[in-house]
Amino acid sequence: MTEPGLFETVKRRQSVPVDVGGVTVGGGVPIVVQSMTNTDTADVESTAKQVADLARAGSEIVRITVDRDEAAKAVPHIRDRLMLMGVEVPLVGDFHYIGHKLLTENPACAEALAKYRINPGNVGFREKRDTQFSTMIEVANKYEKPVRIGVNWGSLDQELLTRLMDENTASDNPKDAAQVTRDAMVMSGLLSAERAEELGMPRNRIIISAKVSAVQDLIAVYRDLAARCDYTLHLGLTEAGMGTKGVVASSAGMGILLQDGIGDTIRISLTPEPGGDRTREVTVAQELLQVLGLRSFVPLVTACPGCGRTTSTVFQELAQKIQAHIRERMPGWREQYPGVEELNVAVMGCIVNGPGESKHADIGISLPGTGEEPAAPVFIDGEKKMTLRGPGIADDFRVLVEEYVDNRYGG
Ligand code: SF4
Repeated sequence: MTEPGLFETVKRRQSVPVDVGGVTVGGGVPIVVQSMTNTDTADVESTAKQVADLARAGSEIVRITVDRDEAAKAVPHIRDRLMLMGVEVPLVGDFHYIGHKLLTENPACAEALAKYRINPGNVGFREKRDTQFSTMIEVANKYEKPVRIGVNWGSLDQELLTRLMDENTASDNPKDAAQVTRDAMVMSGLLSAERAEELGMPRNRIIISAKVSAVQDLIAVYRDLAARCDYTLHLGLTEAGMGTKGVVASSAGMGILLQDGIGDTIRISLTPEPGGDRTREVTVAQELLQVLGLRSFVPLVTACPGCGRTTSTVFQELAQKIQAHIRERMPGWREQYPGVEELNVAVMGCIVNGPGESKHADIGISLPGTGEEPAAPVFIDGEKKMTLRGPGIADDFRVLVEEYVDNRYGG
């Protein structure tokens, strides 16, 4: 299954599809958006609520921390609570250090989760590492669950890194330390996946990620990883940060990789502002995929930035109102009007680019700039259809958007 527009510009890398609780990841299907909670998983109520919020915002898979016995015991209750809420999103358990213990001692947790995330840098050392890793893979095999081998720059396998550094020092052509660390990231993921296969895990139950916090490292690591395997890849910049920095860094790094066809599922790791909305990471992930033409989630509103030709805030308010109206109406529209997510609306500030941009949109309005006649031509499917005037322009345009949606997608 592919989506319109996707393969005209981006050739996706071939990967082995993985079923994560009924959601296919990889194998050329549309890129899956996922997210992670920041609640204490032992708190069933607040975790179920946040998972539901993330799922309703569009997260197709949600990861939860499983860090201790109380959290593991809460997982099946969270699953049940979500079912009662009508939310069927697959839950992924994020395990570090004692995942082997938690999974073996809590079979209901192992059963309720749709996938286990294993960090190969956090499963002990030497023989202990192999036992802990093998135990987690055996549990996954027993319950037929996929795993993500999630390598992270901040918790990289130190034994592997030390070995590669030593080999590099002894070589005739030593690489710089950053390159050796990047190599270790890729090798850690691949060696762990290979080990999982030796332990009987089928290739179509393995996803790999190798997250770093610097954009250029992310691009280098994933390009290398993508070239060396056909495992399905989870893409994300770790510790992306707060506010615009997190959005820009994630979009810059992941945008380049997605354009290269690399990445089967994405998560945008944003640090929320205190009291901020966790679902923002879902919106940003969706918008990243949508602006790249890889998927459509919500109709896009194209709005000009405004300039000295717009002395009032009328057009900013209209753009904001239309965007809010579309987001609010989208849950109902999605059911009623298949394909409506590809709708394109333009709200422009003056005659310079207004009519031109509005003609490119499905429905667009060009508001009057300073000194222009107080009239707003509306363009539908590239043609000027009418002119709006007076204080009710915003409401009138909203009605026209509703009518357009009904006429075009209602049949
Ligand atoms: S369309 Fe007009 S108001 Fe908007 S940025 Fe361009 S010149 Fe300025």
